[in-house]
Amino acid sequence: MMSQRQADGLCNPAVTLQARQLLGLVCVRGGAPCPLIDGGEARGVLERLAKDSTLSIRLCSNAEELAHYTATLDRRPDPVDAFNRKRDLDVLQRLGLCPGDTRRGRYLIELLFERIETPVGICAFDTEGWEGCELAHQGAYEGVRGRGWREIVYCRSDEERAEYREPNERAIAGGDRLFIRPHHLMCMSCWYNGGEASGKRPNDTLAEVLERIQREPEVPITLVEGPCQACDCCDGFDPGTGRCVHACGLIRDYKKDLDVFQRTGLMPGATLPAREMMDLLFERVASTRDICGYGDGVVTAEEWRICGGPEGNAGYARTRETGIFGDRQGG
Ligand code: SF4
Ligand code: SF4
Repeated sequence: MMSQRQADGLCNPAVTLQARQLLGLVCVRGGAPCPLIDGGEARGVLERLAKDSTLSIRLCSNAEELAHYTATLDRRPDPVDAFNRKRDLDVLQRLGLCPGDTRRGRYLIELLFERIETPVGICAFDTEGWEGCELAHQGAYEGVRGRGWREIVYCRSDEERAEYREPNERAIAGGDRLFIRPHHLMCMSCWYNGGEASGKRPNDTLAEVLERIQREPEVPITLVEGPCQACDCCDGFDPGTGRCVHACGLIRDYKKDLDVFQRTGLMPGATLPAREMMDLLFERVASTRDICGYGDGVVTAEEWRICGGPEGNAGYARTRETGIFGDRQGG
């Protein structure tokens, strides 16, 4: 039985690295003895990432430690320190992060591989005095990147996900109630698209949830905060912690849940018959723009990207018109 609260990795990181050492981890994984990170430390972090996609990593830089030049005039400049500072800031700038930022392992490595194709231009240059690391030209980083983030970070196997799916489908089909995070009722409606959807969804069991609700409109739904009964088979669901390690699960899905709670006047743990719950949702939430687009449709940061577009998901609007029982007459 999981305790009610667990240590918050994002506010209490498990690992702290200089930002440049993120590149070093990849090079070490690719067989290059990167000079930016101690080999033992790199292997230790890699071993943890290979087992735990939720591992929280804080990225640092010493830029903020620089004193005003008047305090340093009698000191010899340190070229290695300056080069490393540039590497740290190059990595942070490409990732859209700041010194001190913490992200989960899977999020960081996916973002790293999306944004940084090669360490050349960060770890090494063809400028005299800035030649840097010879290993940067040997392709170790590029080779690992080419094989994808799963080379570094743990990902559930298809077999394990299938093992979780089977009992989950049974519980959804026959349990005495459903446990759903509120914004997932909206995702279900986006997907249903006014009756256009069919088949299963590979990453969740929202299609099965919909099927149960349509078959049994009075089935109670208990609203929960965070990953829910529809998540068990998702590659982003981490059964050990109950967290979602997809980019949406980093933080924005928590806000979506709470925004739906506020709009509907409900709190976590609230239980209503499915028909009543869906009616309340459609009455109080006219568009995904209000929840997934934060009301104004403005993306303030990568972490707060908008699903369904800034103007709202057309599938949700259609389902809100038709209802999920085919008996709703417009919003
Ligand atoms: S727009 Fe919002 S409700 Fe629709 S699928 Fe995306 S996250 Fe879910
Ligand atoms: S684990 Fe995350 S991405 Fe997967 S279904 Fe749940 S909330 Fe969605």
